Amino acid sequence: MHISGHTRLLGLIGTPVDHSKSPQMYNYCFQKFNQDFAYFAFDVNADNVEKALHSLKTLNFRGANVTMPLKNAVIPFLDKVSPAAKAVGSVNTIVNDDGVLTGHITDGAGYTLNLKTGGVSVKGKKITLVGAGGVASAIMIQCALEGVREISVFNLKDSFWSRAEANVKAICQCVPGVKITLDDLGDKDLLKREIADSDILSNATRLGMAPFEDKSIIDGLDVLRPDLIVTDVVYAPAETKLLKQAKAAGCRTFEGLGMLLFQGAEAYRLYTGGTMPVDEIKDLLYK
Ligand code: NAD
Repeated sequence: MHISGHTRLLGLIGTPVDHSKSPQMYNYCFQKFNQDFAYFAFDVNADNVEKALHSLKTLNFRGANVTMPLKNAVIPFLDKVSPAAKAVGSVNTIVNDDGVLTGHITDGAGYTLNLKTGGVSVKGKKITLVGAGGVASAIMIQCALEGVREISVFNLKDSFWSRAEANVKAICQCVPGVKITLDDLGDKDLLKREIADSDILSNATRLGMAPFEDKSIIDGLDVLRPDLIVTDVVYAPAETKLLKQAKAAGCRTFEGLGMLLFQGAEAYRLYTGGTMPVDEIKDLLYK
């Protein structure tokens, strides 16, 4: 890889980061398009977040991706925050424009871009979204910004519930006109009715990934029909139990891996203005 006196740095901050595929993904693109950038992973814990963000300015980084446990912790040290990141209180991408650090959240754009590759727009649609954690909140705000008609959110009454209530309120204030409801995932009759009235069913919980590989949000429910689009955020395994159930019922499905690649593509666009070759990256990292 070409490194010059002009090369600008980018990186992933958070902990742990040693398993991350981001350095491979971004450096592949920089090399392919002769862009004078280099991307590294930096293990940064919550105690050092202020110093790390200061370094982004001092060392003139082009930007940084942010992973757990810093997605909320970086916000007080940014100069600007995008409307979507502000509404969900979470940042996964920081762009440095001449010393001005702006925080973005690209998970929601990754979700809708993945759908768009299959010709599906969320505009005017109703989504039943199961989950109310970080990724679910990012999906909610992005879909709201892109003109979704209604989002019916279900979650367990667990530790995420109060944050979910606050996020739904913040998103409704940020995008007036969109209808978002939050209900208990334990109310299976209501879940069934809402799915029957929806265009898209989306899993944004951890169900489907280890240790819940043998579980799905619709276990025990007869709710699938061929014109329902079914999406999952879980990307390991690539085909979750929910997606297998949906395929068997003749539904169109969208995997979490597509969303993961497109949220990276959106961050790449924010850093460079360019288009990430998503299919090549998928082959490079996952085949
Ligand atoms: P989070 O910890 O913020 O939220 C977890 C969510 O799962 C909450 O809504 C919680 O109530 C729900 N949940 C947990 N256990 C449950 C159970 N037993 N039954 C029902 N619901 C349960 O997590 P997150 O960051 O929002 O990540 C959620 C999933 O998304 C994870 O599987 C993660 O790997 C995946 N993810 C995907 C992408 C992508 O781009 N595809 C990006 C980040 C995370």
